[in-house]
Amino acid sequence: MTARSAAEGPAPSFVHEQGASRVVFGPGEVTRVGAEAARLGAERILLISDRRSRGVADAIADLVDGRVCGRVVETATHVPHQEAEDATRLARTREADLLVCVGGGSATGLAKAVALRTRTRILAVPTTYAGSEMTPIWGITRDGHKRTGRDPVVQPVTVVYDPELTYGLSPGFSAASGMNAAAHLVEASYAPRVSPVTAAISAQGLRLLAGALQKVTTAPRDPVARADALTGAWLAGWALGSALMGLHHKICHVLGGAYGLPHAAVHSAVLPYVAAYNRSAAPQPLRRVAEALGGDDAAGALWDLRRAIGAPAALEALGFTASDLDHAAALVVEERPVNPRPADVAGVRAVLRAALDGRRATEIP
Ligand code: NAD
Repeated sequence: MTARSAAEGPAPSFVHEQGASRVVFGPGEVTRVGAEAARLGAERILLISDRRSRGVADAIADLVDGRVCGRVVETATHVPHQEAEDATRLARTREADLLVCVGGGSATGLAKAVALRTRTRILAVPTTYAGSEMTPIWGITRDGHKRTGRDPVVQPVTVVYDPELTYGLSPGFSAASGMNAAAHLVEASYAPRVSPVTAAISAQGLRLLAGALQKVTTAPRDPVARADALTGAWLAGWALGSALMGLHHKICHVLGGAYGLPHAAVHSAVLPYVAAYNRSAAPQPLRRVAEALGGDDAAGALWDLRRAIGAPAALEALGFTASDLDHAAALVVEERPVNPRPADVAGVRAVLRAALDGRRATEIP
């Protein structure tokens, strides 16, 4: 970071709060999950995995040596209420003293829903770039509405990041999930009263992600690129956990919860346009975003990155239509986004309209 000049505004004031997690990172480190669970004194582990991570979960079950008391082997996106109820009942009846989750944000999310009710600690082994493992944020969906909240009890106490577990992510999903991580870093950059630590992490995370995503989408088993992308995702989750998110996250929350659109792809489709919308209201933070991405303008640089890595680009390709614009904009505004530029129905509609076909736009009037 360079020193600020007086022209950049008043001296900063902030409150920085960061939940404590132990992070173990490296290729092959998944083999340490047994030792990490033992370090936490776990005797009865509920093992939660998504369908694609079942094989890894099987290996973890061997590592923890007879201490698995129950398993959940499938998870649905956005944590449906009934799934949370069933997993909680299992944790209670089996008297689990540790939840180990392996998989994407949906597996982490289910473990968090159980922790919210039972106060059981979580050891997370993430396999995508969603970043949920670093946050105290939970979400549960019921009747098309996703409720979210913050509670330190759901933040995993230990996170084991093994880049080798991400080699199987397709180029398309790597790109989409990487844009999900980028969204945390962009919104942290202009969050209200953001601390200098979070601002620095935001820029560093974006630099790492931008370079790594260009490589992993063409060479999915490149060990250095996968490690850098996962490091970027770690920093993104860290930023998400420490700063308030703005309009972008509210839009994605509504499009996922009320319209059932895929989480990571929606982040990718919307992000450049929220940066364009906020351009005049957060010029300095967005200049730093642009610099981190190697461009002159944040919205344009995000659009260019998205195209370079082949990430999802148009909301209409995800099933969102022009006839949804008014209702969706109203739902987003009801969520009262805290955003550098006030978000009214006309403004949110303009962002969604621009995201519909995914054309390049660096400013949204
Ligand atoms: P996901 O967990 O739903 O996974 C998407 C798909 O990828 C699934 O089919 C999964 O089985 C598969 N997959 C996972 N890891 C894989 C791997 N290594 N190789 C191949 N396939 C793999 O999607 P996601 O984008 O990771 O997470 C989205 C969910 O996380 C949403 O519900 C979102 O709201 C939540 N989330 C929460 C927070 C938070 O802080 N609470 C943060 C980010 C995301």
